[in-house]
Amino acid sequence: MSIEHNIVSVSGGKDSTALLLLAMERCTENLQAVFADTGHEHAQTYEYIEYLNDKVFPIRRIKADFSRQIAAKAEFIATKWREQGIPEEKVLRALDVMKPTGNPFLDLCIWKGRFPSTKARFCSEELKRNPIIAQVQRPLLEAGDDVVSWQGVRRDESENRRNLPERECKEVDNESGAELWNFRPILDWTVDDVFAMHRKHGIEPNPLYRQGMGRVGCMPCIHARKDELLEIGLRFPEEIDRVMEWEKIVGEASKRDMATFFATARLSGPQATSDSAEISLERHGVWQAIEWAKTSRGGRQYDIFRVQGEQETGPLCTSIYGLCE
Ligand code: SF4
Repeated sequence: MSIEHNIVSVSGGKDSTALLLLAMERCTENLQAVFADTGHEHAQTYEYIEYLNDKVFPIRRIKADFSRQIAAKAEFIATKWREQGIPEEKVLRALDVMKPTGNPFLDLCIWKGRFPSTKARFCSEELKRNPIIAQVQRPLLEAGDDVVSWQGVRRDESENRRNLPERECKEVDNESGAELWNFRPILDWTVDDVFAMHRKHGIEPNPLYRQGMGRVGCMPCIHARKDELLEIGLRFPEEIDRVMEWEKIVGEASKRDMATFFATARLSGPQATSDSAEISLERHGVWQAIEWAKTSRGGRQYDIFRVQGEQETGPLCTSIYGLCE
């Protein structure tokens, strides 16, 4: 007899925490909580996941593994780049970094030879959605069990979430006939409802919300708003230093010898450029993005009072799966 499994994706953010608490109220059995670790979260988010695991519900931690893709890319570089006449020095530098580090976000970027961007949003899918499907949902479906994927998205977060259905069948397994359903029970909740759920269960929200973060996710997220970037640069410079090191590694893996964490077209003012020949880590690296975040007037003037509050449009993450907050 087939079983229905309820899978809640927990990110460490307020919405998925409220979702987990709701799922615990409604499901007395066959409930699983899963955290897909990007390797790019703030230390306080990792601690918060532990807190939820100890105080709320056991959380299974999974992560993507790009070893196979990196090995294939190394093979490609060793053969095709050489055939294409790429200088041997460049080939050797790329091969030198073409090794899995065990950090999913960094390994994904090493494999791709670039960072994700607002136009090339492969991170959420590769780091969260695919590992959850492959490591959690698919085995259950193949065993003939139905899966209900609980998603912590709310209509008032963004335009593309506004018209999502509360429940939809996403897939029927060809072999077993088992069904995969998406379920979004907090679609009509407000932020107040979400925090009220925390209070109802005596659960603290992620402490990052008390430190100027409007959202919790990768640190920083590629979609971070200007005001959020400024806040992260001021409060968590060690995270920016880490990303700066990643820019050097991913740059070595890149055919054009350069990879900036933020797309340079996003930066306005003197740093802005769409000419790849002009891009440099000195002018367009992640610390320069933080410098730009301190400015107003199109990046031409420093605005030291802009610590919080400049509202730019667009959500931090546009994943309709609610996998990133
Ligand atoms: S939080 Fe942002 S950077 Fe991280 S996976 Fe989601 S979209 Fe990508």
